[in-house]
Amino acid sequence: MIVCKFGGSSLADAGQFRKVYELVKSDPARRFIVPSAPGKRDANDEKVTDLFYACYEACEAGRSVDGLLDRIFCRYDGIIADLGLNLRLESEFEGIRRLFGMRLGRDYFVSRGEYLNGIILANFLGFEFIDAADVIFFREDGSFDAEKTDIYLSEKLRNARNAVIPGFYGSTPGGTVRVFPRGGSDITGALVARAAGAELYENWTDVDGYLSADPRLIPGARTVPAMTFHQLRELRYAGAAVLHEDAIRPVREKGIPIYIRNTNRPDGPGTRILPALTEKGPGPVGVGGRGDYAAVTLEKDELRRGRDFFRRFTALLERDGIAPELLPCGVDSVTAVFSRRGLTLSPEALAEKWRAVLGAEKTAVIRDLALLSVVAGDLAGAPRIRAAALSALWEAGIPVLLLEECADGIHLILGVREGDLNSAAAVLHRALFEK
Ligand code: ASP
Repeated sequence: MIVCKFGGSSLADAGQFRKVYELVKSDPARRFIVPSAPGKRDANDEKVTDLFYACYEACEAGRSVDGLLDRIFCRYDGIIADLGLNLRLESEFEGIRRLFGMRLGRDYFVSRGEYLNGIILANFLGFEFIDAADVIFFREDGSFDAEKTDIYLSEKLRNARNAVIPGFYGSTPGGTVRVFPRGGSDITGALVARAAGAELYENWTDVDGYLSADPRLIPGARTVPAMTFHQLRELRYAGAAVLHEDAIRPVREKGIPIYIRNTNRPDGPGTRILPALTEKGPGPVGVGGRGDYAAVTLEKDELRRGRDFFRRFTALLERDGIAPELLPCGVDSVTAVFSRRGLTLSPEALAEKWRAVLGAEKTAVIRDLALLSVVAGDLAGAPRIRAAALSALWEAGIPVLLLEECADGIHLILGVREGDLNSAAAVLHRALFEK
């Protein structure tokens, strides 16, 4: 059994709805469908959810929302008319308009994009409509209630043959609608897949899957066919984003694979995210990088003497509001690598402060550091990737300022100057993916 989530661009107009229809009907295993609200039809278009947020803000500012609501409802009517459905949503529209006047809370309104789209998709597919407010639960304080959701949702799905469950929202015990963070339909899809005991969670979107690098920087970036959940997390660290982060845990815990696929190119390979790679790993899975880091090194003979050295050092960092990204160390030195964003003191001032407290003799500061991340496909292939990455940078004359390897052996982090970041990423990508 397969649970499919379709993103906003996959349901942006009647043409996209037809593609979704074909995909769902082509495999009877696709029994439970989770839609987003209609997304952009082209680059200049607006997402329905954004329009609902704008409506809410207009309402709060005391402006009329009639024009905006008309625009939203018109989009749904257009889809219904184009698909030739025997469905009228006037009473739903009027209900929403009336409640806007009563100022019911933001989450209720912004969730209506998914709610209305779910009704239309269920009608088009001939599937049961299950209101997410009846099966996805939040606590009164707004936090998500995973246990209650799993119980109610499993029970409901056990008794359904085929159903559409709108993404993004749920409700509290008192009946108030709450939403997940933006992009949260991915989370609903994962919860439905978990509760249904699905064999596969298909996440249909408008890209071919995860790419080996950011295509804006690396034109040769290619779709990665498979990776593990763990590698996916590491790739996110390197800056890749397709799937909402909170959508991973519900399926990962149950060993349900995720398959990212392109609604507009269903024959494409997509990316499979698997609990573990069964065959030999797929080679390197990605290269990414971010700037805005600094590194401060403190040095003194026997600096690290005493069991409590790291506790004292990290307490110092914490007091200055710094959560170190890495803490590489030598025999008589320690380096803190941290983000420069939101710093109140300069890295040099911090270095001086820490030097004085710890009685270090020397400090060194790199204030324009970028971190590059290379995620290998499997342990067996990692040594080759490590060697290829370092020699490619050496040959290109790009200095590597620091090097860290995560204990799992498949994630390599390289520090370079910010000015070298893009060329280093290109060199690494060429050496690892384009040979
Ligand atoms: N429609 C919501 C948003 O735009 C949720 C989603 O698309 O996943 O964030």
